[in-house]
Order: sequence, then structure tokens, then C-alpha cells
Amino acid sequence: MRSISLGRELGAIAQVGRGLAPPCKNIISMERLPPTMLDEYEELIQRFLYEVEMETYLNAAGLREVVNTAAIFERYAGLFTEQRVRTLKNASQNLDGEEKERARRLYAVACENYLENAVKTLTDKLHTQEATEKVVIDEGKETTFRFLSTLIQNEQDRTRRKKLYELELSVVKTLNAYHEPIIKAFHEKARELGYANYLDMYKDLRHTDICAIRDIMSGFLKRTEDIYVELMNALLAKYSLDLDKLERHDISYIFAGSQYDKYFPSSDMLNVISAFTASLGMDITKLRGKERNVILDVEHRPTKSPRAFVSAVDPPFEIYLVVMPQGGVSDYFTIFHETGHALHYAFELDTLPFVYKKLGSSAVSESYAFLLEYVLTNPGFASKFIPDNVLEEYIRFEMLNKLYMLRRYAGKLNYEIILHTSNELEKMPEIYAEEMKKALLFKHPPELFLADIDNGFYTAEYLRAWIFEPMLRNKLIELYGENWFSNPDAGRYLRALWSVGEKHDVEELAKNINMEALNTKYLEEEFLNL
Ligand SMILES: [Zn+2]
Repeated sequence: MRSISLGRELGAIAQVGRGLAPPCKNIISMERLPPTMLDEYEELIQRFLYEVEMETYLNAAGLREVVNTAAIFERYAGLFTEQRVRTLKNASQNLDGEEKERARRLYAVACENYLENAVKTLTDKLHTQEATEKVVIDEGKETTFRFLSTLIQNEQDRTRRKKLYELELSVVKTLNAYHEPIIKAFHEKARELGYANYLDMYKDLRHTDICAIRDIMSGFLKRTEDIYVELMNALLAKYSLDLDKLERHDISYIFAGSQYDKYFPSSDMLNVISAFTASLGMDITKLRGKERNVILDVEHRPTKSPRAFVSAVDPPFEIYLVVMPQGGVSDYFTIFHETGHALHYAFELDTLPFVYKKLGSSAVSESYAFLLEYVLTNPGFASKFIPDNVLEEYIRFEMLNKLYMLRRYAGKLNYEIILHTSNELEKMPEIYAEEMKKALLFKHPPELFLADIDNGFYTAEYLRAWIFEPMLRNKLIELYGENWFSNPDAGRYLRALWSVGEKHDVEELAKNINMEALNTKYLEEEFLNL
């Protein structure tokens, strides 16, 4: 499969995308926001987000080392003044119906960026440092900080792996010098806006009860503990390890699943993803046109993020699917996941208001990403890659990997709720280590207390998506049978969901497909039946 040279693509961005025009200065500088101004505000936010996402995309894709979102914030400064944020909040409280919802979403994005604006210089420095930081791994041999995680997951010698991991942690420690003032500023700004704390603010912005998600997951943690311990011990015994000795670098290596890599060659990856999406009636490698445009970037670059990602800078017209193909099972999982995001954005209706295209709950897009990702754990689909005598073991391995991730995110959410409601940052490294150990039952390094969090409670968005995905999948099985993933009718059903973008949140989607309220019943069944 042909890979597209991004250098050429970037030169053509103005033609590929719609070339959003620069903002009109007098609109940005207006402090007052009469109701008729919502349209203009929405348009300016769209341009602002386009520029910021393009800037961060270029950095994460390894195309530009220096990140300068600060300059973009300067240009759009009028969008994120405290007064502007308060005006939008009033509008969201005083309007009705769709206008109220629009104002609410614009308020949420204004508020988030009001916080980001306060830390923009620190954030740029942090990202630049992350992209440029180098470490010496062997005598004189250097590697980038971002590439260390790839080296760790590929290193089978435990002593060498631990050394690489310690190097990684030493860089994380230096980066905490940026993380700490950023978190402090977030907390302070949330209070200035009248919220009790950062958690209180995000409950409002995400329009969801983050503590209720934590509570749902606390039941999940209890009910899956026995099966988690049993499956982990069985797996770790193969490496002469147990939960007491286990460290995070072991997990990175073990769950990379290198024993299955030979079944997932990098040379086939694009063909596989092309054939898979074609069987659902939408070959992702061919979505290059006027209606929708997915640009694949698969080139190797030294500072490119090893983790694949999608930048939907202007859906459905300009969506970058960025992967650094190394081959192997974890790479396949990532590209299937990111393909779910890319397709969701590619099939959004062009006529959809921007607030529904990109300013909804991220749990929606994550659900579609998980739906495609976990096709790789379906025995019917996986049997295309994995020989019969290995299939059962592979499925158990990948399901344990999923259970580990769910428990990890449940632990992270417990910790993040404590972090964002406390004023005692100095106590957080220990609390991080404790909470992660409670969920995963092995020790965690306290140094990660700020690097291992997701700003804005994105952790809860992932968990909502993990809970909703098997509910949606069960619906697809009910309608199209066990092999829904190769049925173009299922593809049509999904495209209908995707066309409305992020208009509904996952709780509404669950109701719309005649499912009950969000609950972990379907999710737990997957593990309890293993
Ligand atoms: Zn995702």
C-alpha cells in the first residue's frame, strides 16, 4: 500500500483543507457578547482550534521540534478573557433549547482554553523539552526521550530494561518542574472562576458526574479482582515474575505481546486496515476527496511520537492519521483504534454545526475507536492472523491486557479526583503510588504523579467509552450477527451514528439504541467468562 509523503501533503494544506481565513480583529477584541454573537464566537473558536491542533500535530508528528501555541493564543487572546468566559456562562444559563446547548459547549471550550492560556508558555516549553530531550543509553549512544518507551517495550533483558526505565524516570523528574506550576495554575484558575475546585469545574464542563464514573468503576474493580489476579499470575509465571516483583517496565514489555508480533507484520498493516474497513463498506485508504479527506502519515521520523494519533483538524475535510509503523500486535491495536477515530470524524456531516462536530464528549469518539480496536480480540476476526493452536491463548492475553487498562484507568481516576480536590501537592507522589497499587496490585513510581495523568479528566472520558463500547457492540451483534465487523450493513449503521458527530453523549447514545443506563454489565461479562 502506498504511503503518502507528508512533506508533500503539508505543502498542500491550504488546498487540502478549506484554508480557514485569519480572524477579524475587531470581533476578537470585543468583550461583550450579545446572543447574536454566538455564531461569530463559534467560527473564531473553530479557527483557533484549527491553528492550535495543527501546531501540536506538526510537533507530535516529528515535523517541527519547536511548538509555539503561545503565539496562537496571543492572536486570539480576546476569546479567552475572564469576562468573555463569564459572559458565555451567563448565556448558557439564560438561553433555551439548542441555543443553550451551543452556548454551554462554547462556554466549556472557552473555559478550558482560559486555563490553557494561563499556562501556554510553560506548556510550550514542556512539549519542546519532551521533543528535544536526549539521553545516553550505551557508551556514547544517544536516543530521544520519546523513543525510550519504544526501547523499553522491546527490551527483553530485564536488567537493561530497568536501566532504560530509570533513565526515563529521571527525565520525567526534570519535566515535573513544568508539570507542577501548570497544575497549580489550573487549580487556581478554577477557583477564580467560582468553582470549589478543578473537579467541580470539570463536572460542569463535561456535563457529567465524574464521581459517579469512579463509583461505577469501584464496583468493577472489586468484581474483577479475582480474575485479574488469577490471569496475571498465570501470565507472569512465564517470565518468572509475580505481582510483588512486578514493575511498570515489565508491564510495558510483557503487554507489548512480542510473541505475537510475527503474525502482525508492518508490511501488511495498511493492507489489513484497508481490507477491514473496505469490508465495512468504507476503505480508509481511499477516503481522499471533496466530501471527506483522511491523510495517512506512516513515515518514520526520529522525534515522531511513537504512539499513533489522529488529528481531526477540520473534519470531515482534513483528518491526519499519524502512525509510526513498527509492526507487531500492539501497533495493530493502535492503528485499529485510531482508524475508529478517523472514520468517525470523516463521516461527520459537513453541515453539522461545529459544536456538534468537535465540541462534544470525547467519550463518543473513544467508543468508536475502542469498537474497532477490539475487533482484534474477536476470535472470528483474529483467526485471520493467528494460528488455531495459539488463538485461545492470544485472546486471553489480549483480554487481560484490556482488563489491566481498565483497572489502571479506574486507579488513575481515583487518584486524579484526589489530586484535583486537594491543596497539598507535596503529598501527591505517595498517594499516586498508593492508588495505583490498590488498583493494579504492584508498585508504581511516585515520580509519575503528574506525568501519568490526563488533563481535564480525560481518564473519565476513556472509562465512559470503555463502558459504552460493549453495549454498542452487543447491539451490532443483535442486528448483524457475530461477524458484524465484515458486514457493510453494520458499516451503514455506524455511519449513521458517525454522521451526527458528537451531538449526543454516550449516555444518550445508550438510550437511543434501546440500552439501559451506562453500566459495566456487558464489560464485566467479557472477563468473567474467560
Ligand atoms: Zn482514542
